[in-house]
Amino acid sequence: MVANEQQQQQQEEERKEVKLIQSPNDNNKYRYVKLKNGLEVVLVSDETTDQSSCCLSINIGSLCNPREIEGLAHFLEHMLFLGTEKFPVEKEFVNFIYLNGGSYNGTTSPNKTNYYFTVNQESFEEALDRFSSFFISPLMNEDAVNRELNAVDSEHNNNMQKDFWRMDRIVNDQFEGHPMSMFFTGDSSTLKRDDIREKVVEFYQRYYSANLMKVCIFGRESLDQLEEYANKYFLPIVNKDVKVPKLPPLAITSKSIMIEAEPTQDMDLLKFVFPIPDEKLCFSKNYKNASASILSHILGHECQGSLFSVLFNKDYAFSLSISSNSFYENMNKIEIQIHLTKTGLENVDEVIALLFQSFEFDTPEYFFTEKKLLSEINWKSFQKSAPASTTQAITSNLFRVERPEETLKYNNFLEQFAPEKIKEIQSYLRPDNMICLFYSSTKFKGKTTEIEPHYKIKFNKRYIEQSDFDKWKSFPKNTNLFLPKENPFLPIDTTIKAPQDHSIHIPKEVYNNNGVKVYHSLDHRFNSPKARVNIRFELTSYGNNQSMVMWNLLKKSLKEVLNEKILYYLSVLDFSMKLQILTTHVELQCYCFNDIIFTALGKVFDFLMNLDLNDMQFKRIKEKVAKRFLSSHYLSPYQISMRHLSLHNFNCNSMLLDKQEYLKKVTKSEFLNYFKSLFSYINFSAMVVGNASIEDACAFGEKLNSFSNRNSACPGEVFKLARVNLPSNTITHQREFLYDTNQTNCSSSISFLIGQFNRKTYATTLVICSILGSAYFEELRTKKQFGYVVNCAQDCTGNAISMRCIVQSHTKTPEEIFDATMEFFVGFEKTLDYFKTSPSDFKDLIENCQKQNTVKQQSNSAQSSLYWSFFTFCGDFEFEKKKYEDIGKITFDDVKQYYLDHLSPNTANLRIFAAHCYPQSYQIPDEVKPFGNVKVNLLRKYEHDNFKENHGYLSSKVNLQK
Ligand SMILES: [Zn+2]
Repeated sequence: MVANEQQQQQQEEERKEVKLIQSPNDNNKYRYVKLKNGLEVVLVSDETTDQSSCCLSINIGSLCNPREIEGLAHFLEHMLFLGTEKFPVEKEFVNFIYLNGGSYNGTTSPNKTNYYFTVNQESFEEALDRFSSFFISPLMNEDAVNRELNAVDSEHNNNMQKDFWRMDRIVNDQFEGHPMSMFFTGDSSTLKRDDIREKVVEFYQRYYSANLMKVCIFGRESLDQLEEYANKYFLPIVNKDVKVPKLPPLAITSKSIMIEAEPTQDMDLLKFVFPIPDEKLCFSKNYKNASASILSHILGHECQGSLFSVLFNKDYAFSLSISSNSFYENMNKIEIQIHLTKTGLENVDEVIALLFQSFEFDTPEYFFTEKKLLSEINWKSFQKSAPASTTQAITSNLFRVERPEETLKYNNFLEQFAPEKIKEIQSYLRPDNMICLFYSSTKFKGKTTEIEPHYKIKFNKRYIEQSDFDKWKSFPKNTNLFLPKENPFLPIDTTIKAPQDHSIHIPKEVYNNNGVKVYHSLDHRFNSPKARVNIRFELTSYGNNQSMVMWNLLKKSLKEVLNEKILYYLSVLDFSMKLQILTTHVELQCYCFNDIIFTALGKVFDFLMNLDLNDMQFKRIKEKVAKRFLSSHYLSPYQISMRHLSLHNFNCNSMLLDKQEYLKKVTKSEFLNYFKSLFSYINFSAMVVGNASIEDACAFGEKLNSFSNRNSACPGEVFKLARVNLPSNTITHQREFLYDTNQTNCSSSISFLIGQFNRKTYATTLVICSILGSAYFEELRTKKQFGYVVNCAQDCTGNAISMRCIVQSHTKTPEEIFDATMEFFVGFEKTLDYFKTSPSDFKDLIENCQKQNTVKQQSNSAQSSLYWSFFTFCGDFEFEKKKYEDIGKITFDDVKQYYLDHLSPNTANLRIFAAHCYPQSYQIPDEVKPFGNVKVNLLRKYEHDNFKENHGYLSSKVNLQK
């Protein structure tokens, strides 16, 4: 035998040793290889995929930061994207990915750093070449280092006001001396130092070694071809045989701690964190008994007998959530979070006492059996995920499994019930082994003495003493606490209804009677026992203040009344149900096992039909909605400017403050009467897709038809929100202060109105966007460093088309954002003209745009939601095919003309509406600079009505012929 052949045979043998366990419903091909440099790779060949993906993950993250340079691991993650020896141009990788229909990201967690991308499958090898060079020869240029510091700074600035980040930070800060107490993301206060480039290179040299990395390569190519890629591109990564540093266990070293802190938002909550240092209990390693997740399931249960049910019925809590995390084997924690009501706030000690009482139980086996049954069904009916989710899940599982064979099955690997392990975890849930965060605006505003330096969190800290334990122990045993009963809704019939022949069945109208329409398609491709049902409520009035408040109350009342008996049990079965209150309409979305979904929907509609609440329930849902409205003031500034823009687009005067006022006054009988009258004239459009028969779909149509005492509404009476028109040659600035006094970022959403939806304009928009998006990002974020949030994309709601730029900044003003945007659009002509000189690049652009917009869906869930999005968008389930053809017809001249007509700041057609949000510390200038001979309007809120009179609306009728 020749040496080569021998080698091949040997490799063949090694490969045979590791055969990945694969679901019977999974037709991908898999192979596990360990490269000679120690890098473990899983190859996935999916011959039907349009998009390819690769993920590289290393189990070094923020916990490995040097104490004196917090945020270093995160900073390195940013730096690797900015040029390598082989591809030195800073944006080479990013531009390549965007131009080839892909996306990318990097994330740094405490124990891991992840890098991944997706790209059109034809460009996979070139993308791999660029991507792998991050880990072979990154440049980390001095000037890129300095500029990227700004990006990390903006990122932190965006996080600073977010309570989610703040709570995590203040709790972690208490593990004094442990790496967990470091400021993970970093900012210029920790990273700006003369030797930062040296340090980031040093960190890379020290830890980025092949033996700590896992890679997943997912493409249309054969396994042999993918293996060749793995060797060609990842074998050059150096193996330094590094060990993950042994970090100390995460534990309470002296006494339990109570932190009282001030939130940015108006909220009152208790958070309990219990560290578990015992390596043999490590949550991610115990996947075959899932002890931590079973325990979490019982503690977080919301049905009768549960802690939540007791707190809820005493009117102490709005919600309770629990999570279990493990970082390294000796760093596990269980976290419980309780949102308190006003009454709860007055009874905090009792809440804590009840929490500890609820920890005392022996776990019955049925919790395990139910979980096992579900994981067996899920495994049997495996559905593909998006390529990037697949590669990320596989690399992360590779770190956790005992044997690589088990990688794919990691989440569905229940083998033995281990009550003793659950007991052991329970033994750590003690008052002397916790950090308790009492995060309350009501209690502590202005009453704290200490400040956390990075997030400026104001807090008090004290140790929890014996007297606290005694106090909590002194509460009498609550007899309403008991273990919830077995789940009565487990799926029984998971038979697949259609022959699986991979044929595509577009939804068809199967029921049309008295104002109710049902569209249906039976799945032949995905072999899944689940179905999707979506229902659009066609109402006679919508969009005003009153309706927004009422629908929000209705949404909360659903959960309030149905949760304990039904919804919670269903949610455990992956039943997802969402009542969506959108700017333009209301819809109910449901996805679940086909043998449960109609029973569940039946209960929901029975509730809506006989809408009733007691006074206590109504009081509580009002309080919940009030909290929700209030918290909307604290969204990120860019989200707030988007909301202003969208309100303007539809001339809705339901400003948040107005809604809050209206809510205060509304009574229970007004609420009940509102829906009684609204539901007396209502139509429905519904879609049933997946493993459900025509008979099921029609029976559901009947159910909708018999809804309440409804009459069908004439088509003319069904309310449709229309987009506001804008006069030509105008720029309108709407300027608002942000409500949150501590917010230091400003934001602008700048919208160019293109016009009425028609197929050609829409297709041209998609083409131009595929260049515009990355060019705008590169200019305002990368080059000019305006801020972390920079985005430009099409906005096609309400049958109109516009182009929308969004920027959030903590260094620039809205005026500067606007000027830079206009400057960008002047310069964009040159970017476009390049494509005139290079017809082949233009052809590529068109082809990529076609692919990007018609990505083949790989699961029942993804395919069915795509159908619904077409229905909502234009009422045509076959729109994808049309879109593909339309894009193919677009010429360079079309694109150029579009630019000249709508986007060039010199056009006489210019129609811009810009919503700007200012921090309260800013001055809003009285005037803005004139712009050529364009008419400039300035608006403050409540001035929307002027628009209605002056310029009218665009038509809300869809015309798909044009
Ligand atoms: Zn980042």
